[in-house]
Amino acid sequence: MCFTDLEAVRPQPGHERPDIFPLVPGHEIVGEVVAVGGAVTGFRVGDPVCVGNIVDSCGVCEACRNGDQEFCAEFPTLTYGGRDRHDGSLTQGGFSDEYVADQAFVHRRPEGLDPAGTAPLMCAGITTWVPLRRWQVGPGQTVGVIGLGGLGHLAVKLAKALGAEVVGFTTSPGKAKDMLDLGADDVVVSTDAEAMAGQRGRFDFILDTVPRAHDLSPYLTALRFDRTLCTLGIVPELSFTPQTLRFGRKRLAGAGSGGITDTREMLDFCAAHDVTATVEVLPVAEVDAALDRLAAGDVRYRFVLDLTS
Ligand SMILES: [Zn+2]
Ligand SMILES: [Zn+2]
Repeated sequence: MCFTDLEAVRPQPGHERPDIFPLVPGHEIVGEVVAVGGAVTGFRVGDPVCVGNIVDSCGVCEACRNGDQEFCAEFPTLTYGGRDRHDGSLTQGGFSDEYVADQAFVHRRPEGLDPAGTAPLMCAGITTWVPLRRWQVGPGQTVGVIGLGGLGHLAVKLAKALGAEVVGFTTSPGKAKDMLDLGADDVVVSTDAEAMAGQRGRFDFILDTVPRAHDLSPYLTALRFDRTLCTLGIVPELSFTPQTLRFGRKRLAGAGSGGITDTREMLDFCAAHDVTATVEVLPVAEVDAALDRLAAGDVRYRFVLDLTS
């Protein structure tokens, strides 16, 4: 259960999309193949598979040809609440018994990984994986991760598995120990101005996963010369003092989701390094309670609904 699911079915004022109802959300899907069409070559009945947050794209634009289907110029077909490119119907998501998708957007699920822990890799995982790879996070680098939710906790695990020194930023001293338990080497409480000032020039890369408005200036200051801060949070606006970007030739970047090649690379990497999300599995009958708890921020760190229950 992604925050996007909550936002789709219980939108904040001004974000309503009445045209998408009735709606089945869910875009972190794991399961197995129960049927294949006549032209399917890559899968057989019984194969373990997963589906993420996009299920089709134009296939011919620059982004698609580059393997970045998430940035398709025609906009990718979303797993739910999108328009099917063949019959124009509204796509419906994974809180369901079955999902039908083009084989190009179905991914082989690593059998060595817990299926429930694998599900969040399909949105939270790929969304953090792509920027970590794009900015070549690895050994010898110090990486900052801002926020410890669904995205942040996977960013800590992935950056650590990639070999970087990982430092978590959190507003809550209570979450500091959690970040260390997840593998972070160090934690900075971002509400502590003195601690933040001490971070100047420390980081090779910072990944911002916080879905609320906040000032980026202290984080831009914490970057080393010529380095990048990438923001993932879906926020109405971002603020920073331009001088903190200009001085040191820093870069502010964005990312979200991932394409077919990156998704398969991430799944292979997670299988090899035994990386999965930390999840709480709930029977599907508790979907409303799960949405309530997600809205209240009461989840460590991702809910997974058991659709067989
Ligand atoms: Zn999502
Ligand atoms: Zn395209």
